[in-house]
Amino acid sequence: MTLLRPVVGITCKFEPHGANNDPYRIHGNHWLDENYAHAIRASGGLPVMLPNTREPDVWMQYLRMLDAVLFTGGVDVDPGEFGQEPVAQLGQVDPVRDAFELGLCREALELDVPILAICRGVQVLNIAAGGTLVQDIPRSVPDALQHRQQAPTWHPSHGIEVEPNSVLARLLGRTLLRVNSFHHQAIEMVAPGFRATARTSDGVIEAMESQRHKFVVGVQFHPEGMFGFSDPIDALFRGLVEACKGVSE
Ligand code: MN
Repeated sequence: MTLLRPVVGITCKFEPHGANNDPYRIHGNHWLDENYAHAIRASGGLPVMLPNTREPDVWMQYLRMLDAVLFTGGVDVDPGEFGQEPVAQLGQVDPVRDAFELGLCREALELDVPILAICRGVQVLNIAAGGTLVQDIPRSVPDALQHRQQAPTWHPSHGIEVEPNSVLARLLGRTLLRVNSFHHQAIEMVAPGFRATARTSDGVIEAMESQRHKFVVGVQFHPEGMFGFSDPIDALFRGLVEACKGVSE
């Protein structure tokens, strides 16, 4: 019998055709940055795209087929999802993607499905588990670094300090490194049962992980955008795929 690759569901961006006012979302395209799919394949996994949906039975069944979930980058989450009013600097919001990813994430946590959450993904993870976000870093963090770099995606633009004795530090094999940065929001209150595992020098949280699940790791930077450029960072994807071993056997 051939050894099958673990199946990793990957969340997607939705781009409507024309006006963004079609509640049924018939007209538009889901898209996935190939960097995510490539990183999963190159790490031994089988990437599968997960179109957004508001139907809970669909995400419940996705989780029966999947060995792990990768939550990807994207637009801002509606602050109503964590009990706040929108600040003026809030960006684009996709309520259907919010409903899908928050529902999928809550259920995946319930079932202890391995999760890697990137950028918007770590924000979704934190909200799903009961945390809150800084809605706009330049507005709320005094003397903030530049977290929306103008350099190419693969270029590490700021340093982070990683908590020793974290899953993240074990995967990276170090506690100091430089990463890319494309976000204007960040984790504010870390969800119960989770811990912040990396920060920048301005105090912004750059990673978090669960203290009670098998493998639930989130990062604010974009490891898929640096894939192949940094062995320590590539290890995040291997960590996710390796966490699947034994799950579906
Ligand atoms: Mn950053």
